[in-house]
Amino acid sequence: MKRKFVSDLKTNAMRKFIFNFLLLLPLFMMNACGQSNAKQNTTQKSNAMENVISKPNNPYYSNTDATKLNVSDAEWKKVLPPDLYAVAREADTERAFTGTMWNSETKGTYYCAACGLRLFKSNQKFTSSCGWPSFFEQDNKNSITFKDDNSYGMKRTEALCGRCNSHLGHLFDDGPEPTGKRYCMNAISLDFVPDGIAPTESKGNTETIVLGGGCYWCVEAVYEQLDGVQKVVSGFSGGTVENPSYEEVCTGNTGAAEVVQITYDKTKTNLDEIFQVFFTVHDPTTLNRQGADVGTQYRSVIFYKNEEQKKAAESIINELNTKNVYSSKIVTAVEPFKAFYAAADYHQNYYQNNKNQPYCQMVIQPKLEKFEKVFKERLKKKH
Ligand SMILES: [Zn+2]
Repeated sequence: MKRKFVSDLKTNAMRKFIFNFLLLLPLFMMNACGQSNAKQNTTQKSNAMENVISKPNNPYYSNTDATKLNVSDAEWKKVLPPDLYAVAREADTERAFTGTMWNSETKGTYYCAACGLRLFKSNQKFTSSCGWPSFFEQDNKNSITFKDDNSYGMKRTEALCGRCNSHLGHLFDDGPEPTGKRYCMNAISLDFVPDGIAPTESKGNTETIVLGGGCYWCVEAVYEQLDGVQKVVSGFSGGTVENPSYEEVCTGNTGAAEVVQITYDKTKTNLDEIFQVFFTVHDPTTLNRQGADVGTQYRSVIFYKNEEQKKAAESIINELNTKNVYSSKIVTAVEPFKAFYAAADYHQNYYQNNKNQPYCQMVIQPKLEKFEKVFKERLKKKH
């Protein structure tokens, strides 16, 4: 990757790319984001990508993100069907022999029906006469947590989802070897996916990367135009607070940054180009600041998901520093990706939906026009 980039630098295209930084510098002086009064404070879990199961009405649902959720029952009531809500959030118990899951032997994976966390594999299941799906072992030590349950005059151990803390059922000591445990689960609390259906993430040539370059409206508008980019979602990443609200992020105390999650086709674009665009449309030399926007939430940051992304990020930063493309040193942070929280729908495609607003005309549009000049051969074909 590094050798490839060095050779790129020697090409005319790359020289032109670096030259164009000079054209862009005045943009960095502008107020990067006059956004605060327009933004809403709700955030959503990203669930559109990488899921085996799609639940468009449940923004917290993810089959790949095991980050703990802290969602109120009032919120769950809005996104879960009433019968699942009664079991998951009010510890209701479904009638025995409900459905066919209790005696199913189909090979596959069981997920939490409320949040999508992987709970069991079918080889951890056994057919119990009790009439509820029963397992002798959980997927991993974090997938299910336990609590003493003394309701109904009984001394039982309640089993809860390790991610969303929803009620799943109970744990008993009368299961088969090797564990001797019996996880007695409500079928309604489980989603089952037969083997052979792989998450979309592992399929084909699609990859995602999360970048923070100040106001996400601006960064999103630019990447939406780049050929090979399939999807751009505005949201938050990094920091210490799970699923932070926009208002929390605005305080600058959460450590979370405004970011975009970019899904791209590796056969049509690549990390080098994604990063070239990134370093063209924001100022990577101002620490925790873009224009008039100041705070760690506006920091320049690359959240890498694998070694390849980390190396590519460090490589381009090193190259741009070595070539003195900027008058100051690049301060872009390269941090490991942990979680991404999509911002509310209102923030998505903000530029496209609000072109007539002064902020869009004054701040985003000039950036977009410069980007379109620099990368004019790389724009998506207009429909
Ligand atoms: Zn769950």
